[in-house]
Amino acid sequence: AKFDGNKADFNFFDQAMADKERHKLQLTKALRNAIINNELVLHFQPQIDLETGQIIGAEALIRWMSPQYGFVPPTVFIPLAEQAGVITDITQWVIEHSVKACQQWHQLGFNKLCVAVNLSAEDFKRGNLVTYTMSILHQANLPAHFLELELTESMLMDDINNIQKQINELRAFGISFSIDDFGTGYSNLGYLTKFNVSTIKIDRSFVANICQSSNELQIVKAIIEMSKSLSITNVAEGIEDSETALMLSKLGCEVGQGYLWSQPLTQQDLIVLLSAKHKELSY
Ligand code: C2E
Ligand code: MG
Ligand code: MG
Ligand code: MG
Repeated sequence: AKFDGNKADFNFFDQAMADKERHKLQLTKALRNAIINNELVLHFQPQIDLETGQIIGAEALIRWMSPQYGFVPPTVFIPLAEQAGVITDITQWVIEHSVKACQQWHQLGFNKLCVAVNLSAEDFKRGNLVTYTMSILHQANLPAHFLELELTESMLMDDINNIQKQINELRAFGISFSIDDFGTGYSNLGYLTKFNVSTIKIDRSFVANICQSSNELQIVKAIIEMSKSLSITNVAEGIEDSETALMLSKLGCEVGQGYLWSQPLTQQDLIVLLSAKHKELSY
């Protein structure tokens, strides 16, 4: 009887796994056509200078509205896109549309704003990242220093020489690099100077708790101090309340991003916000 029971359980999980795999395959198939079918949209989340309260840029965050599956969050489809080899096309699409959006902000008079784009490790493997990024900037006539590319710690672990070569080329062109989700990855800090990153983005998991937990507070404090001594800009992600923003500002944090000020917005809504806020955003 015991054996049969185990067998039944095994079949149950086997079936659940198979269903999950099938769903992943279907999603991946739909994703392959998402670009051509115009199902991808970019939203932009403002980044705020904690000293002046001014919006200094925005991070591009991709959204997929699938006619079949509804809204699929990027945490679900980006890993699928990476596995299926479609991420490089998606990244190229994101860079192209981010650069266009940034150029539009500039044309409207918000001509100091930067745009940040998330990269994937796969983007360095195909070998065309440098060429298309430079050509997109050139065509949009946007100076390269308005584009920032976000990396994660784990991306910098494999294929170091190949990645470093491409980063150096892009940096020589004027593009800057930041480390996203800082503190959650592999903590070999040597890469901060090795890759000459200009910004670190302190992960939301630390930021969210600084007013509740002295451990997180100490970690964030140490990250801010370290970034300052290395002349690296620090950005705090996921600020949801003014108490946290005030604390971060006291600790010397320079830039904030989070629901306190704004969720990621459509290009249209961001322009409305920019136009309304000739005054500063406070906290
Ligand atoms: P990320 O790059 O760390 O982006 C920040 C995420 O935190 C975004 O989630 C943003 O909406 C969310 N967020 C911002 N402020 C707050 C806050 O105050 N509270 C909370 N709870 N969340 C906040 P989103 O848009 O769902 O993106 C999730 C992740 O998906 C991103 O994390 C990034 O790793 C990836 N991703 C998004 N767009 C792209 C893209 O175009 N390319 C690539 N390769 N990855 C992307
Ligand atoms: Mg990011
Ligand atoms: Mg990211
Ligand atoms: Mg992040």
